[in-house]
This record gives sequence, C-alpha cells and structure tokens, in this order.
Amino acid sequence: MCVNQKCFLSLKAVVILYSFLFAVSGCTQPTPWPKPEPEPTTPVPPVRQRPTTSTTTVKKSSDGPSDWIPASATERRWSAIIIHHTATSNGNAAKINEEHLKRGWEGIGYDFLIGNGTDSDDGEVEVTFRWSRQIQGAHCGGTPNNWANEEGIGICLVGNFDETVPTAKQMQSLVKLVRFLQQRYGIPNNRIYGHGTTPGGHQTDCPGNNFPMWRFKSML
Ligand SMILES: [Zn+2]
Repeated sequence: MCVNQKCFLSLKAVVILYSFLFAVSGCTQPTPWPKPEPEPTTPVPPVRQRPTTSTTTVKKSSDGPSDWIPASATERRWSAIIIHHTATSNGNAAKINEEHLKRGWEGIGYDFLIGNGTDSDDGEVEVTFRWSRQIQGAHCGGTPNNWANEEGIGICLVGNFDETVPTAKQMQSLVKLVRFLQQRYGIPNNRIYGHGTTPGGHQTDCPGNNFPMWRFKSML
C-alpha cells in the first residue's frame, strides 16, 4: 500500500493526468451536436381536379330567345361562326329564301339573318329553317370537306357594307347572338370569320370592306 509522501504525490499526478486526458478528449462536457437544418421542402402544388366535362360540345344555355335554342336531340357540332352581308340595301329572310330557291337551292343558305329596318325591323334576328332543323348551311363554299357549311353557323346582316356600315341595332343583336352561340357551343373568338377570311373558302370581300370586324370582336 502506498502511504508515504512520494507515493501520494505520484497518485496525485496520475489523477491530474487522467483529468487532463479526459478534458482533452472532449468527454467532460458533451458538446451538443448541431441540429441538422431542416430539409428544404418543395411546396406541393395543389392538385387540381379536372373539370368533369361532358363529351358533347353542346353547352346548354337559355340566355337567348327560345327560337335560338334548337331541339337538343338534333343539334350539330358547330365549331365556327361565319359573318356575311346581303350586299343589298334591303331584304329579309323570306325574300332571300325566294331568291335562293330560284337559284335551285334548298332555300336561304344562312342560319340567321339580322335586319336593318327595311324589310324587317332594325336589329331583328330571323331564324331560318336551316337552324331550326339543324341542317348544314349553304353560305360559304369551297372549304375542304365543305367544313364551313357543315360546322360553321352562317349569320347574315342585311346591307351592303362596301357602301354603308351596319346599324347600331344590328351590331347589338349580332353581339348578343354570337355570345349566345359561343357560350352554347364553346366557340372561341378566333373561330369567328368574315366570309372572305374563312380558311379555304372562295375569294370574296363579304361581309364588306366597312364591316368592323375588330371592333365587333372586342365587344364579345
Ligand atoms: Zn357571304
């Protein structure tokens, strides 16, 4: 047993040495390990539900006179709207129907006619038999597979817009009618044509050089 002074000092030295080594080893006071930074999380975009649309292109809307709404069972898949003028100063659906019958056609080639106050009221919308019966038009020849008559709704304004301009009431009715048709069939503005700018159609200046196409589209 070590009891003398020398031994005691040696023992003390050993204790100091151990204390020193223990301190150097870093074990005296455990250093808290830095907490890891939280992983940056990528925000998850909200899941959008696809709208459950019907397979049909027909969108029901009743925002229009009842005679603008054909029997749904016979509605065609209309994809475009084509604007015309009669290139005459006056007229109505009955008169144009007679003229077109004389040409050997089935009758008036348009779906709608908008009067200018001569042979029908100013801004009056007349619905023709083609629209009522949902048969193809006869207003825009020359397009591939006759698409403009098969899928294009023909709207004609009474007047010669190389010489005059449509009346304000004609334009109001045209905007109302076209909005109704766009909503019902999902037709965008870029599928609304003047007769002469219908892709693939015959060359013509119909609906006249004065027809305000850009202003009309800005009103839709
Ligand atoms: Zn035309």
